[in-house]
Amino acid sequence: MTPEQLVRIRLKVEKRIAEIDVFLAEDDPESKPVAPDVAIGRLSRLESMQSQQMSLAQRRRQREEKERLENALERINGGAYGNCAYCLSPISYERLEAMPDAVVCVSCAR
Ligand SMILES: [Zn+2]
Repeated sequence: MTPEQLVRIRLKVEKRIAEIDVFLAEDDPESKPVAPDVAIGRLSRLESMQSQQMSLAQRRRQREEKERLENALERINGGAYGNCAYCLSPISYERLEAMPDAVVCVSCAR
């Protein structure tokens, strides 16, 4: 990987982390209790609990992705980025471009 490619990936990682930060800064569903039955009716209460569950799961995924991206950023800044964690061979730029938080190469990921 060339230094230019590394810079491009670092920008991509930083941009994605910023996007996730914006997403996570939005209303936290955990802080919003679902309204009681009487207020919105049983069925819509169920629906609103389901959508709360979905948005909690989505937030969890975003937090996990952010963690992986931050690890990637650390490796980029530490100069240890781009090698497979298993076989230690370089991960292809195409793969890192598509998945900057990848820690294993294509063959080891199979
Ligand atoms: Zn590998």
